[in-house]
Amino acid sequence: MGSLTKRISEGKILVSDGAWVTFLQSKGLEPGTCPELWNLEHFEEVASIAASYAAAGSDMVETNSFGANLFKLEQFELGAQAYALNKAAAEASRHGVGPEKLVLGSVGPTGKFLMMGEVSENELFEAFALQCQGLKDGGADAIIVETMTDLEEAVIAVRAAKSTGLDVVCSMTFDALPDGTFRNEKGIAPAEMVEPLMAAGADVLGSNCGNGTTGMIKITAEIRATHTTVPILIHANAGLPICKDGITVFPESPADMSALTLQLIEAGANIVGGCCGTSPEHIKAIARMVKVKNSMLDY
Ligand SMILES: [Zn+2]
Repeated sequence: MGSLTKRISEGKILVSDGAWVTFLQSKGLEPGTCPELWNLEHFEEVASIAASYAAAGSDMVETNSFGANLFKLEQFELGAQAYALNKAAAEASRHGVGPEKLVLGSVGPTGKFLMMGEVSENELFEAFALQCQGLKDGGADAIIVETMTDLEEAVIAVRAAKSTGLDVVCSMTFDALPDGTFRNEKGIAPAEMVEPLMAAGADVLGSNCGNGTTGMIKITAEIRATHTTVPILIHANAGLPICKDGITVFPESPADMSALTLQLIEAGANIVGGCCGTSPEHIKAIARMVKVKNSMLDY
């Protein structure tokens, strides 16, 4: 059992963190540049984001490595630094939060399509394995494969993450359909990801992005109805984005999101954090509700 699954097995609801890239942009990251280069060039700034979330009440923080796979880094001519950028990502988060909190190494999609023959399964596996090894060597406690919309790619990423020996979370992104159900781009429902991802070695399943908390409550219930015990992680957006004066804004305040936290936990979530539009203030409000829930679990 790894350190994440051990924490979960203690029975308390855990809090993770919120958005990273918007946070980096607020510190000066220019759009169109490689966010992960900051792990080497602005190490303390990256570490301070992790520290902000830890101070807000996160039990675990992610790493600035979402796009640090070989394929995305090659677009910035940084492919040769894939291992070093991932290792520095985990080191920065660890530096920011100290030894007690958990560090989850973030692994996002490659943007390459297996179905179209742009990449082979083996090339994908090797790229993910290199990324995960860098994260592990930098001190990550677990890997979170996230924002996945292609189940095949997610399965390969989970297998590669698992090859490091760390605990693995796999979080997929679903769209709400007009009929009230949720599907990814290829028509896969939340219930349908459970068996293949667990067979690939995922220890925790979940969903992030694409929906506000209201949608995530339904997704959580669907996963829980399919598997009664698998730990579930949910990172909802701060509502669905709206365009205001030409800029995208996420409408839900920390109070709006935290008002739904208990319902999310009742539906089956074990780990609650946030995705697009969430800040340390959102996490602080969510953490307050989780604390209430955990104090009830003591009795
Ligand atoms: Zn998001």
